[in-house]
Amino acid sequence: MPELPEVETIRRQLEPALVGRVIESIEVFDERWTRPVAPGEVERALVGHRIEAVERRGKYLLLRLDADRTLAMHLRMTGNLLLSQGGAEPSHLRASIALDDGTRLLFTDPRRFGQAVVLEDDRLDDHFAGRLGVEPLSEALTAEELCRLASGRRAPLKSFLLDQSGVAGIGNIYADEALHRAALHPLSPAGSMKPEDCERLREGIVATLEAGLRSGGASVDDYRDARGERGAMQDEFLVHTREGEPCPRCGAEIRRIVVAGRSTYFCPSCQRRLRRRPRRRAVHRSLA
Ligand SMILES: [Zn+2]
Repeated sequence: MPELPEVETIRRQLEPALVGRVIESIEVFDERWTRPVAPGEVERALVGHRIEAVERRGKYLLLRLDADRTLAMHLRMTGNLLLSQGGAEPSHLRASIALDDGTRLLFTDPRRFGQAVVLEDDRLDDHFAGRLGVEPLSEALTAEELCRLASGRRAPLKSFLLDQSGVAGIGNIYADEALHRAALHPLSPAGSMKPEDCERLREGIVATLEAGLRSGGASVDDYRDARGERGAMQDEFLVHTREGEPCPRCGAEIRRIVVAGRSTYFCPSCQRRLRRRPRRRAVHRSLA
């Protein structure tokens, strides 16, 4: 599933090709892409408008249009966005956006979970409020902010990182990789982090996302960039999908467990399991 580095890789490729172009027509071949809004309504909202910017929030890709309107797209499990100058149509084509210079932006999606929604810009913040938390590659992600978000949370660190309303953009791959870099066990209760743990986790998140960006993302299964090419991050995984292989830091055997229904890879030797910190307020309540 595309995570922040994959979506950002696509964004950087789309930006020079799309900004300034006018949408001439849209064909939606799968009404699930725009559900519950009818494809015709989405087409009418977009055709004739100029793309002013290509932005990203968490795992969402945003085409900012004139007339204060935005097309927000989420690729979900297997969605891809491809720039096309013609030629054979790719398989699993769900939508095609034709631009005034002859370029087409194609959306393909074998499993059909990808979504698109048109939002008026004055509703954009409301739409993402509660869904998307802090951007991990912005200055807003500090150790203090991570500790604040995790405070009181008993959920495992792995689940904490997958929760888009806390830190946005991290999925199964980069959560495993960030926790290994931070030397933190994925089952540690999030609220048990001390300030120094939060700082190591912040460094781990930033380092792993930047590695993903440098590699053009990870192509474990369906992910392709906007040029149809595979990323290379899967060749650099420290622990993800490396069950039974030696930990690159300590040499112990990497293990796989399931956390929150997701395969989770970690080193049982050098990723420290934090103990739950006593919650004083809870104790007082139980005595009252
Ligand atoms: Zn290790």
